[in-house]
Amino acid sequence: MENKKELRTWLDNLQLDHPLVIAGPCSAETEEQVLKIAHELKNTDVNYYRAGIWKPRTRPGNFEGVGALGLKWLQKVKAETGLKTATEVANRAHVELALEHDIDLLWIGARSTVSPFIVQEIADALKGTNKIVLVKNPVNPDLPLWLGAIERLASSDIKNLGVIHRGFSTYEKTKYRNNPEWQLAIELQTKFPDLPLISDPSHITGKRDMIFDVSQTALDLNFDGLMIETHHDPNNAWSDAAQQVTPSALVNIMKDLKIRKESDPEAAYNNELNNLRAQIDVVDNQIIELLGKRMKVADNIGELKKQKNVAVLQSKRWNEILGKMVLEGEEKGLSEEFILRMFKAIHQESINHQEKIINS
Ligand code: PEP
Ligand code: MN
Repeated sequence: MENKKELRTWLDNLQLDHPLVIAGPCSAETEEQVLKIAHELKNTDVNYYRAGIWKPRTRPGNFEGVGALGLKWLQKVKAETGLKTATEVANRAHVELALEHDIDLLWIGARSTVSPFIVQEIADALKGTNKIVLVKNPVNPDLPLWLGAIERLASSDIKNLGVIHRGFSTYEKTKYRNNPEWQLAIELQTKFPDLPLISDPSHITGKRDMIFDVSQTALDLNFDGLMIETHHDPNNAWSDAAQQVTPSALVNIMKDLKIRKESDPEAAYNNELNNLRAQIDVVDNQIIELLGKRMKVADNIGELKKQKNVAVLQSKRWNEILGKMVLEGEEKGLSEEFILRMFKAIHQESINHQEKIINS
């Protein structure tokens, strides 16, 4: 990871006037399906055609991919449409087969990135390759684990590297399939500004109608590209049906996205400003999410108080909270006045919630 400028070379060499686009089905299902989607994506902004051949399924008994046979279909895609090809590899055998079939871009999936043994095996099998290799974030929000995987590949003399942000598993259900934890991706970008960073809004959202917004946020945060699962008949896809979009929907998404260029100083300034605003939006959403969570807990307390018939306001506990928050706020550079005003407002909302419950 020493020679950082080199990291961008493969992307800069493509000389794109739009973000890098990797699109295609979650899984290769049949030769006909693979070719049909590829032909519909020809002559669009799509640069790499993706299709999963070996599918890492969380539970057994689901469609696990067509295997090596699908690599032949991807070769046909390249021959018939000129699109470059991409697939996921998860062990040495996959790497060898993908290289034999001249796949142009290989990615390491989220469930593989968590395992240093597997990543090392893949890095060894790919040693010295000039193929593009992209590392998806691990399923858990662990930046060092993600960086470790990139370092293993870099140490194996793999120069055309990049990363894919596909969000992180959470125990609690959120509106996302995989929570984006944008701060983590921003931290990675700050550490390695020249490492191409691709967003995978399909696996982040799990729902096709959320893909546009997440893509726009990613571009506002200076991501270099998008990987979007695309299928000609999404509802009947053999995997990830809810999140795939049709080729024409993808074209519309690309058309409507605001893409910012960095060529002149004015644009660079606007870029920086939009990036910072996108960070503010991310944090604001987290604040709302947390406040909603806090009010749910307050509701539960309201139920308890109702059962036991105790008063809503417990001033001793409230004063303790306030004192503690003022001190913690001070450490973060927040004034006492602000902390008091904010917590009083939060407290009032909790009281309103609880009174509604107690009087119901
Ligand atoms: C995929 O891209 O199809 C895939 C399985 O993704 P992830 O590794 O992000 O779950
Ligand atoms: Mn998928």
